Amino acid sequence: EGAVYAEVRRPCRVMILVNPHSGRGQALQLFTGHVQGMLTEAAVPYTLVITEHQNHARELVRKADLSQCDALVIMSGDGLLFEVINGLMEREDWQEAIQTPLGILPGGSGNALAASVHHYSQSPPAWNEELLLSCGFMLCKGLVGSMDLVSIHLASRQRLFSFLSLAWGFVADVDIESEKYRHVGAIRFLMGTLVRLASLRVYQGRLAYLPVKEAPQLPKGSIKSNQPPSTPQHQSLCSSLPCRLIPNTSPNRNSRHNHNSTNSNHNTLTNSSNNAITTKRPETQSDGKTRAPEDSLLPGLDQPIPDSWTVVKEEDFVLVLAIYQSHLAEDLWTAPGAMADDGVIHLFYVTAGISRPALLRLFLAMEKGGHLACGCPHLVYEKVKALRLEPVSPQGMITVDGEMVEYGPVQAQIHPGLAKFICG
Ligand code: ADP
Ligand code: MG
Repeated sequence: EGAVYAEVRRPCRVMILVNPHSGRGQALQLFTGHVQGMLTEAAVPYTLVITEHQNHARELVRKADLSQCDALVIMSGDGLLFEVINGLMEREDWQEAIQTPLGILPGGSGNALAASVHHYSQSPPAWNEELLLSCGFMLCKGLVGSMDLVSIHLASRQRLFSFLSLAWGFVADVDIESEKYRHVGAIRFLMGTLVRLASLRVYQGRLAYLPVKEAPQLPKGSIKSNQPPSTPQHQSLCSSLPCRLIPNTSPNRNSRHNHNSTNSNHNTLTNSSNNAITTKRPETQSDGKTRAPEDSLLPGLDQPIPDSWTVVKEEDFVLVLAIYQSHLAEDLWTAPGAMADDGVIHLFYVTAGISRPALLRLFLAMEKGGHLACGCPHLVYEKVKALRLEPVSPQGMITVDGEMVEYGPVQAQIHPGLAKFICG
């Protein structure tokens, strides 16, 4: 008893990774000015790591001894979290590594996850320092929830893991072209949008997706359907069961329960793996190692589209955007219904023929999540589990979580609740 109590009382050890060049280059100052004191007051021990170059964080978490670390927190934009998630998934022990709770402190110019997490906490909208304080407070509280990841296949057979978005066309162009305005902060996206609108173009390509099917309403007494559980069930299950973090001293975290954690010390943590979340576990190989999660919904990129998929008739697009969090940026509430672990890729596309003012109206309405109510016939929204995009235009940009990736055919599928994140 005593030993368990001592272990549970041990404060959570957090590794905080800061990208000093993110946003306006003030992430470190923002940390010392707004977060440090909060963590000290809450008695949360942490190690601060300042990244020295791109992929530094990725290499570091790929090799780190995660038993010494109860949470990985990113003080940057979304790009640094993308590095961390891929570093974790590249490990041999990825299955356990990806259970490490991830936190985000907005310090970049693109803080979509921070805005989404803040939104999930049902707090009124916040920006800049206020958003940072909200995320700092969540870190001190230490509640953990589940978050979907999306696995993304590129033409070179590379596979990436994404927590936020896959974009092609207008949104990807704005993402990358606006990086040169990073010094102005989050407003870079508005500037980029206006510049891109002036040179609006059409992108040719083919798009297909596997739609989410709501479980059919069965008449009473009928035979059980073999459909997977419907998304809303999954969503309410997970969101009603947030757990506290537990120090991961045990080699098998799943075996460590603590049901009598009655003290309200915010640094005490209970097992985040005990959620009723049912991410399918891959089988164990004979050597005891586990395979990276299989993408059971995806055929090879060179294989034909399965019959169960929907092929989009149009081949002229202004943008294609797959998003799995609510916000694409601090002031873009792109997927109003999205939850962190709803198991859904929210797919939006805008077909060619839309006027510049109509496209601008969509982006302006997006601040309050009102774009779907604009009645724009060029905007289409689908809930999907997987998708494939094959650009035909010889040149263009594709981004994953705001980072540019290889241009060419790409496909993706959702992995519900694969990651854990610090939430409110
Ligand atoms: P922002 O929101 O301002 O774009 P990000 O966190 O997305 O901030 O980081 C921008 C880019 O910087 C990402 O591609 C990330 O991988 C990279 N990066 C991370 N650490 C460093 C560093 N120390 N120096 C340069 N680039 C870095
Ligand atoms: Mg970025």
